[in-house]
Amino acid sequence: MTREQTEIQNRTGVAPMRPGSGIYDVLLVGAGLANSMIALALLRARPDLLIALVDREAQIGGNHTWSFHSSDVSAAGLELLRPMLEAQWPSQEVRFPRLKRVLDTGYNSMTSSRLHATIMQSTGIDVFLSAGVSRVESDSIELESGSRLSGRCVIDGRGATKTNALALGYQKFVGLELELHEPHGMSRPVIMDATVSQHDGYRFVYTLPFSPTRVLVEDTYYSDGSQLNSELLAERALQYANSKGWRIAKTVRQEQGVLPIALAGDIQAFWAEGEQQAARSGMRACLFHPTTGYSLPDAVALAQRIAAADTFETRRIDQIVRRHSTKCWQQRSFFRLLNRMLFLAAQGEQRRDILERFYSLPAPLIERFYAARITAGDKARILLGRPPLPIPRAIRQLSESQAMETAHRREQGRSHG
Ligand SMILES: Cc1cc2nc3c(=O)[nH]c(=O)nc-3n(C[C@H](O)[C@H](O)[C@H](O)COP(=O)(O)OP(=O)(O)OC[C@H]3O[C@@H](n4cnc5c(N)ncnc54)[C@H](O)[C@@H]3O)c2cc1C
Repeated sequence: MTREQTEIQNRTGVAPMRPGSGIYDVLLVGAGLANSMIALALLRARPDLLIALVDREAQIGGNHTWSFHSSDVSAAGLELLRPMLEAQWPSQEVRFPRLKRVLDTGYNSMTSSRLHATIMQSTGIDVFLSAGVSRVESDSIELESGSRLSGRCVIDGRGATKTNALALGYQKFVGLELELHEPHGMSRPVIMDATVSQHDGYRFVYTLPFSPTRVLVEDTYYSDGSQLNSELLAERALQYANSKGWRIAKTVRQEQGVLPIALAGDIQAFWAEGEQQAARSGMRACLFHPTTGYSLPDAVALAQRIAAADTFETRRIDQIVRRHSTKCWQQRSFFRLLNRMLFLAAQGEQRRDILERFYSLPAPLIERFYAARITAGDKARILLGRPPLPIPRAIRQLSESQAMETAHRREQGRSHG
C-alpha cells in the first residue's frame, strides 16, 4: 500500500481502491443507481477527475434488478449501461382480460451485482463501502466512524427522502427470482399480466425470463397506500408460478420496492425543503418517471448531463441538477394528470380498464410514454376515443392543487386510523 493509501485508510478506516489526493474532484454520497451512473459517465468523459463513491452497504447498488425499454435511453446511454446488462430481449408482452399483445420494443435488465463488479473492476474510482455517512456538506462529508472526506463537488444520491411537497400514489411489489426444475417456456418478458385477481388497487404480475430455467416473478400493485405486506406478496408470486405449472427448485433472491407515483406537487417547494448543502441526484432530486416510479432512464440522462459540465464544483452542479429536475417536472404534468385519473377518479377495476385501453394504442406512442417524451398528438390520442372514465369531468375535478389536498386528506385519514 502506498503512503497516500495508508493515510486515507487511517483517516477513514476504509482502504481506497487507488491512491487519493485527499481532496476529491467529485465526492458521490451513496453508491446507488444514480451516483454509480454518474461515476461511470465521469470515468469515460473526464478520466482526469478524482472520483470517490461512498456507501453504507457492503455492495454497490443494493439488491436490485433495474429494467428499461430500449427506447427509454439514448444510444450513448445504452453504451454506458452495456457492461451491467444481465439480459436483453427483442420484444415484450402484456396480458389483460380482453387484450393480449406482443410489442416489438426491446426490453433490458441490469443487476446490482453486475454494477458492483463493473465499478470494482474500473481503476479510476475510489470506492468506500460499509461507510455510513452521517453529515453532508458542500465541500466534505463525515462518516459514521467520525472520519471526513473532502470534495470540490459533493453529490448526495442517498435515495428518496420524505417530502410534503408531492402527493403520491405507489407502485409496490415483491419479486422472487426462481430457479425451476424444468424450462418455463417463456421467450420474452411479460411486463404486465393483469389477468390475475385484483386486490389493493390495480394488480399485475411482471415476469422476466433470465434463462430457460430462471425467472423473476414480481407481484405488483398500483395502490393508494405505501404499506407492503411482503409475506403475502411473496406468497402470491409463488402461487402465480405454481399456476403456470412451474416446479420451483429454489428461490435464488427476493427484492421488494415501494415506488412513488406522482399525482401532484410543487417542485419549488420540493427543492426548498430541508437543509441542503450538496447537489443531489436520483430519487433525491425528484428524477423518476411519474407513472412508473422508475428512475433508470433519468439516472442515465443526468449522469450524461453532469459528465458534460464545464465546472465540477458543488454550486454549479447543484444549479444544473435543480434546473433539469424542475424542467422535467414541468414537462411531465400530463403524466400526473393521468395518474390522478388512475388513482383519484377511477373506481374498483376501472384502473385495470384504463391500462388495458392504454395498451391498445400504437406501439410508438407507448414507447414515447415510457420514455417520458410524449407529443401533443399523443396526449390527445390518450384522452380521446372511448376511455373507461368520463375524461372531461375527471379533468375538471382533478386540478393539481385539488389533488394535493385530496391526497393529503387521504394520507391523514390513513395515519389516524
Ligand atoms: C427493488 C427495486 C426494483 C426497482 N426496479 C426498477 C427498474 O426495474 N427500473 C427502474 O428504472 N427503476 C426501478 N426501481 C426504482 C428506482 O430506479 C430505484 O429505486 C433506484 O435504485 C433509485 O436510484 P437512486 O440512486 O436514487 O437511489 P438508490 O439506488 O436507492 O441509492 C441510494 C444509495 O444510498 C445509500 N445510502 C443511503 N443512506 C446512506 C448513508 N447515510 N450513508 C451512505 N450511504 C447511504 C444506500 O445504501 C444506496 O446504495 C426499483 C426500485 C426498487 C426498490
